[in-house]
Amino acid sequence: MAATARGLCEFIDASPSPFHVCATVASRLRAAGYTELTETDGWPSTGKFFTVRAGSLVAWDSGSDTGRRPFRVVGGHTDSPNLRVKQHPDRAVAGWQVVALEPYGGVWLNSWLDRDLGVSGRLSVRDDQTLNGIAHRLVRIDAAILRVPQLAIHLAEDRKSLTLDPQRHVNAVWGADDRTRSFIGYVADQAGIDPDDVLGADLMTHDLTPSTLSGLGDQFVSAPRLDNQASCYAGLEAFLDAPAGEYLPVLALFDHEEVGSTSDHGADSELLLTTLERIVLAGGGGREDFLRRLAGSMVASADMAHATHPNYPERHEPGHLIAINGGPVLKVHPNLRYATDGRTAAAFALACQQAAVPLQRYEHRADLPCGSTIGPMTSARTGIPTVDVGAPQLAMHSAREFMGAGDVAAYSAALRAFLSPG
Ligand code: ZN
Repeated sequence: MAATARGLCEFIDASPSPFHVCATVASRLRAAGYTELTETDGWPSTGKFFTVRAGSLVAWDSGSDTGRRPFRVVGGHTDSPNLRVKQHPDRAVAGWQVVALEPYGGVWLNSWLDRDLGVSGRLSVRDDQTLNGIAHRLVRIDAAILRVPQLAIHLAEDRKSLTLDPQRHVNAVWGADDRTRSFIGYVADQAGIDPDDVLGADLMTHDLTPSTLSGLGDQFVSAPRLDNQASCYAGLEAFLDAPAGEYLPVLALFDHEEVGSTSDHGADSELLLTTLERIVLAGGGGREDFLRRLAGSMVASADMAHATHPNYPERHEPGHLIAINGGPVLKVHPNLRYATDGRTAAAFALACQQAAVPLQRYEHRADLPCGSTIGPMTSARTGIPTVDVGAPQLAMHSAREFMGAGDVAAYSAALRAFLSPG
């Protein structure tokens, strides 16, 4: 149990951005015998493969394909709310050198204050060796280069509550010696890239505090980005571990969930559907075969769930209290913020029974707006029935989140049984 939770900590610390999540997953897949396929190339008929589109990744094992197996897909998302670097970030304010940041997704802004922040992401650079003259380079700086400083309590208008303006109050300092230096140029320098070659930048910040087990007897995981890297990790473990069975197992990890999934590679794109169709076509099947296999398929949309908070128990639906270390969570919302229905709930309940882990059933309070996830749009995009599941956590969308160490292995075991039922 602790080994799996420690594995999660390592996974998260290796993955400060969605691009790094894909790189971390890709290296695990390669080590397990998977080969990366480029979408612009022709695909071989059967085998263990994955493909990466920017911050999204789809992996599958068609090694023992009979040509008829429907798909079982575990989906998740690679992105987490954070503070991102603006295109022209350099500011001079009252003697400070400031880097302008902006929120990505539903960030709990207060949680980003007074943390030592590194920078990661991707630089798109001039490269004469490529077809279009551009190459994309992963970058990562783990030095404490940025900090968003909090206002002193003595200067606050209201000492009891904090109101943060996303335009004015989340910019970071990185110097105070009046030198004007380009921040993106600095990042390029650190990555060994000529700043003049940088044509595009997708840069974001990450807290440098390492993930750790915590609490009495290491019962908890304290880490950034549990939403949704805990699901990426549990899904990956399940995928690598699932025995060959009646279904063709697929792992689909999408970027952009935190901002609505509408992009060329978010869950609301054609990425999953076209990948599934190409798997069938590469195996020698036709459109009819693809549609038949689709009709028997199912998706588990894996995203984190809300454990009942000890300081705010009244914020939770009293009939559906969710215990930390109490097992995977089935998420149901009758107004379809989650895609689960009775058909798909039953499949996941069966998977939990098969994995011998307890199942918890979550419903949001009817008088509170409910968040959503990739489930409903994946389901609508593909026509595949989908179940929304997760593992319990506190502090969702904080820079530092919190979950049960025991839930990591139980979550993974349930997803493994979902991928290979029976
Ligand atoms: Zn999420």
